[in-house]
Amino acid sequence: MAPDPIALARDLIRCPSVTPADAGALDLVQSVLEGLGFTCHRLPFQEPGTERVDNLYARLGDQGPNFCFAGHTDVVPAGDAAAWTVDPFGGEIIDGQLYGRGAADMKGGVAAFIAAVGSFLDRNGPPPGSISLLITGDEEGPAVNGTRKVLDWMAARGERIDACLVGEPTNPRALGDMIKVGRRGSLTATLTALGAQGHTAYPHLADNPLPRLAEALHLLASSPLDMGTPHFQPSTLALTSIDVGNPASNVIPARGTARFNIRFNDLHTPESLEAHIRDVLEEVGGAWDLTVQTSGVAFLTPPGALSDIVAAAVEAHTGRTPELSTSGGTSDARFIKDHCPVVEFGLVGASMHKVDERVAVADLLDLTAIYRTVLERWFAGTERRA
Ligand SMILES: [Zn+2]
Repeated sequence: MAPDPIALARDLIRCPSVTPADAGALDLVQSVLEGLGFTCHRLPFQEPGTERVDNLYARLGDQGPNFCFAGHTDVVPAGDAAAWTVDPFGGEIIDGQLYGRGAADMKGGVAAFIAAVGSFLDRNGPPPGSISLLITGDEEGPAVNGTRKVLDWMAARGERIDACLVGEPTNPRALGDMIKVGRRGSLTATLTALGAQGHTAYPHLADNPLPRLAEALHLLASSPLDMGTPHFQPSTLALTSIDVGNPASNVIPARGTARFNIRFNDLHTPESLEAHIRDVLEEVGGAWDLTVQTSGVAFLTPPGALSDIVAAAVEAHTGRTPELSTSGGTSDARFIKDHCPVVEFGLVGASMHKVDERVAVADLLDLTAIYRTVLERWFAGTERRA
């Protein structure tokens, strides 16, 4: 009864679902889930000015608690197809490796979870609660018609989730390396020092903004933002550009612009960081223009029941103790964290978004076993707590 994770991953890779195309990927997921008894909702969304994207929410059971798996079936483009040693959408297995765009990120993870549910049902029967899947077709794209909209739809109909596992490829090198329990935030600032242009021979008749810009950047870049926390490395500030665009050696410029990017932990918010920057500017003095742009705030699911269960399942099947990490870029976990505890664990990500993306067939089988064990221990835990 349990689906074969390798055949399912291969069949998903054969759907060329480059965002926003679906190419049959969600139909395939839906038909396999319906075979396992899931009720499926297809949720296409289209914000004005964007392309229509299809999504799927599937649920088995109508009681709480509800364990949710989140993932995506869209993939990034193959890039230079001629550079691949195989057809990027062929799903070939060579020397124990399943090749294809999405093998690691993250059709392999989706297939492993669906197979794990089948195996869970074979061994345990229906869960004492519900199992659900939130599968989006808009993770690799703009992410406006995907997970965030599905979560809104769920909230509007009172659809509650109690824990969420995101199946992104979290392991840098080997299955079992790393579980992600949060992510840093990212803020980009554009800072312009304003002065008055003049002749370099008569600097007292001009107002040179560049010494002030240099002083402000030195103060910002040289003082630590914090010392880190038990779960986050110290926040960082990286200067990315200083532009004056002055071709003359005898003209004091009227302005100088700099840009920097801050990766911040949960000791900061975008508002607190902007206030810090403005404090420094006030200390230096003079006139300034400052704009800040945030692409995600920091969040953490404190280590606890969910991360313990996932870490123990990883150890049971791989013998490795995974690091609980908040490193790396963003994922859809940034939307889910407002609804329930969320952790991320999936395949090895070394080849994701690259030519010859691939995963070990053995890893797909191990990940299936890990996911099944997570489900068994999570539902056993909820019964104990009840
Ligand atoms: Zn992904």
